[in-house]
Amino acid sequence: MLLRIPYTTPLPSFPAIPQTATTLPTAITAVANFLLNARSTLVLSGAGISVASGLPDYRGPQGTYTLNKEYRPIFYGDFVHKDAMRRRYWARSFLGWKGVEKVRPNKTHVAVGRLWEGGWVGGIITQNVDSLHSMSHPHMPITNLHGLLSTVLCLTCRTQSQRSPFQQELHRLNPTWSEFLEKMQSTPDLPIKRGPDGDIEVPGVKYEGFRYPPCPTCLKNSTFHGMIRVDGDGAMERIEGDGNVPGVVKPTLVFFGENLRDEIKREAEKKVDAADSILVLGSSLATYSAWRLVKRAKDQGKKVGIVNMGGVRGEDGFWDDGEGKVAARYRLGDGTEGVRVEFDAGDVLEGVLEILERIDGKRTNRRVPLESQEASRQDIELGGIEIAAAR
Ligand SMILES: [Zn+2]
Repeated sequence: MLLRIPYTTPLPSFPAIPQTATTLPTAITAVANFLLNARSTLVLSGAGISVASGLPDYRGPQGTYTLNKEYRPIFYGDFVHKDAMRRRYWARSFLGWKGVEKVRPNKTHVAVGRLWEGGWVGGIITQNVDSLHSMSHPHMPITNLHGLLSTVLCLTCRTQSQRSPFQQELHRLNPTWSEFLEKMQSTPDLPIKRGPDGDIEVPGVKYEGFRYPPCPTCLKNSTFHGMIRVDGDGAMERIEGDGNVPGVVKPTLVFFGENLRDEIKREAEKKVDAADSILVLGSSLATYSAWRLVKRAKDQGKKVGIVNMGGVRGEDGFWDDGEGKVAARYRLGDGTEGVRVEFDAGDVLEGVLEILERIDGKRTNRRVPLESQEASRQDIELGGIEIAAAR
């Protein structure tokens, strides 16, 4: 399954479900009912929950690309085949990394972790590549659907390593850029545009001079002798035109046009299958890989809950029960059967926790865990990529 550019048609707001859940207190009650009456709820989180940590969302509250209309993500094929695109990617990512590195979890991440600790949430899948769920609750198993920014991986030998030492190499190979980065940080008014994947666009900057290193393991491997050319400092030599070279290092987040790893896909599906309800937090489900998980839950007759500012892709289908509109059991219910509210997820979950902890106590012993064997091994290393399968 390929990660495609998100659905870009504006997504209109959706009526509250139940119809009484139009104020924060009523929304909180509805979501609390949803969680209280489920045996095991799976959370699916998206970029909306990291906005309060200072990371940009892909789209504004109206579901359109209002935040950064010129956002042009990199495509997997371009990165693999084009040296010029790799220079562009690493230059922008080099400039943006500092901003990503200093990002910290916010109250939504904290609340999700507490819901998991308390047993009201049985598992978490995130579309976010920012590691903030793990940072907030290091022992909580997370399925990182779209990989992570914090690690890099060699596309040839698949050696994985932390991003920070790689960033140090980029500093060493690009002293002028390093100086520029320092200046940029001390000039907060620069018209820079930050992307949610940790890259930065600075108008007028040329990327072709940016240098990046090959994978050190592949460079030493005699099989690739003469195939990986480096300059005196150890940076990849310029490659004209297209062409595959061994030892290309890529961040472990899934690029557009790239396949999700089978392992991750299966793990996410297992979590959906084991849950009896799914709660979407801060996602418009614009990417198919996320939307299909909710669709899968719905098709299995599971309960759906959505807390998101703005519309959600194809959500009518989650509520119509074949009647072509929001079915009465959702509209007139108390949230138990399904919930759809447009409030900040952190505000809602903090209120929900207060209620649950007061009337339900800790559910830890009653928890039905969703994490499989694989999922409990899931950590920062997971969330990678597939090179051959994307072709
Ligand atoms: Zn390698």
